Amino acid sequence: MNSTPHHVVIGGSAAGVAAALSMRASGFQGRISIIDAGTDEPYERPPLSKTFEDLTAPRPIIPAGTYAQHGIDLILGTQVVKLDEQHHRVALDTGDDLHADAILLTTGVSPRRLDIPGEHLGNILTLRDIHDARAMSQRLDTAGHLMIIGGGFIGLEAAAVARRKGLDVTIVEALPMPLAGVPGTQLAQNLQQMHTHEGVRILNGRTATRFHGGTEVEEVLLDNGTRFEAATVLVGCGVIPNDRLARDAGVHTDNSIVTDDHGRTSNRWIWAAGDVASYVSPYTGRRQRIEHWDVAQRHGTAVGANMAGLQVVNSDAPYFWSDQYGKRLQMYGRRSAGDQLVMRPASSGEDFLAFWLREGRLVAAAGLDRPRELRATKPLIERHAVVSAVDLADPAVPLRRLGKA
Ligand SMILES: Cc1cc2nc3c(=O)[nH]c(=O)nc-3n(C[C@H](O)[C@H](O)[C@H](O)COP(=O)(O)OP(=O)(O)OC[C@H]3O[C@@H](n4cnc5c(N)ncnc54)[C@H](O)[C@@H]3O)c2cc1C
Repeated sequence: MNSTPHHVVIGGSAAGVAAALSMRASGFQGRISIIDAGTDEPYERPPLSKTFEDLTAPRPIIPAGTYAQHGIDLILGTQVVKLDEQHHRVALDTGDDLHADAILLTTGVSPRRLDIPGEHLGNILTLRDIHDARAMSQRLDTAGHLMIIGGGFIGLEAAAVARRKGLDVTIVEALPMPLAGVPGTQLAQNLQQMHTHEGVRILNGRTATRFHGGTEVEEVLLDNGTRFEAATVLVGCGVIPNDRLARDAGVHTDNSIVTDDHGRTSNRWIWAAGDVASYVSPYTGRRQRIEHWDVAQRHGTAVGANMAGLQVVNSDAPYFWSDQYGKRLQMYGRRSAGDQLVMRPASSGEDFLAFWLREGRLVAAAGLDRPRELRATKPLIERHAVVSAVDLADPAVPLRRLGKA
């Protein structure tokens, strides 16, 4: 029996890489292995939907030599197929298996399928990895109608690029408006207007029910009976957590791998972090599974430190960004129905800066092309500072001065 403890990270992306580095930085001196099904060195996913250019080599999360420098083994092109929690072994699709003293599941999510007839046809795409992005990039260079099923961030970012390339674009959104759940109805309206202004056709309250074609998609049928010719379809209607390994090992799951606020699952051998995991955030007080790059990295960092024996909780305000038509949408914190929305007037054109107050305390802020001001609100949001709605709405009041009382 080898006495050097071995930590195995399953999933080499935002959360897994951050966790492995954090284990080392927190003093863990045993073996660390990151296993990923993909064959590329861990790379950044956010650039995959921003321009659809420069996709020959994906942008690495950390420089190639860093893994070896930190004594981290990278095992690529290898899928973990089973966790044997009795014997603490990890079975690989190569037929090999490894001993692990602790497991971290950072297996992320996969695009949700629509499960409707014709979904197997060619040129019906989803977007999660570099191969998907390359396939989409090729289709964006092809004339014809692009139908996007689902008006989430990925669909909207792809729509923006497609319009800039002159494609005819339709978004089919099941809800009353794209993104209404994230920044709320009023801001979602602004974003929708930006897209319609750029020439995107948005069909709200509709879903696709069938795809027609020979080997490739030619037509999309909607639930109200309307038909649209389509050269390409992008399905971006949410994700499902990759929690099968956890479920098969009897770990508690609930549309996520359920963890405590340190990243431990219901099985002491197995930890989880990133998009696949849910935890009660000390920031929001709610159990949540968040799908943002920055959150996955911070969560991985905290859980990696805990696996090294520390007691760290990720209490940062959730943050995300999205780029559309050369503009950057950013949001810190989390709003809820019932929060008071305060808008600071636009400094130019379509930009906006919005704040949400709960019982007089700042809980979230979002901005379109207002990065400097938004950054100034982050510390206020993190400590739920008491600020006045009048000051927030007044462009003459510097945000850094707020919450000082
Ligand atoms: C196109 C795109 C654009 C995005 N843009 C933004 C953005 O602008 N801003 C933002 O905040 N967020 C963005 N996101 C979301 C962000 O990328 C995710 O939140 C982040 O990648 C989550 O990281 P993760 O490590 O939890 O999981 P993932 O990145 O999903 O990685 C999971 C890894 O686990 C591996 N894996 C799964 N199962 C196994 C197994 N059994 N064996 C071995 N390996 C396995 C997979 O191969 C994968 O590499 C974007 C996502 C996509 C897809």
